[in-house]
Amino acid sequence: MDVGYYREALLRKRAELLAEGTTRPLQTSMENNSRQGDLADQATGNNEVHIALKLRQTDSKILVAIEEALARIEKGTFGVCRDCGEPISDARLKAIPWTRVCITCKEKQSA
Ligand SMILES: [Zn+2]
Repeated sequence: MDVGYYREALLRKRAELLAEGTTRPLQTSMENNSRQGDLADQATGNNEVHIALKLRQTDSKILVAIEEALARIEKGTFGVCRDCGEPISDARLKAIPWTRVCITCKEKQSA
């Protein structure tokens, strides 16, 4: 397995999430300022804040998972399913490098 490739992918995704986390609130407040005075538009603005907040919660979960994946790379256990101990497929890791479980266990979770 090319662990270096996944480390790169994880670091890139982490940098991306951290950059988004700092720019999003700024954009939102600017939109709100330009819309002051109109109740209907303010409601839309609040909704956008809510969505941005939800996105950030998802982002922070992914950030934690990325940190864990990087730690697993250091320990040499990257790409091994947390639940069954089987290797996670390259296709799955390429799509979601920070995943903790293989597709079989993931499907069991959601079932
Ligand atoms: Zn598994």
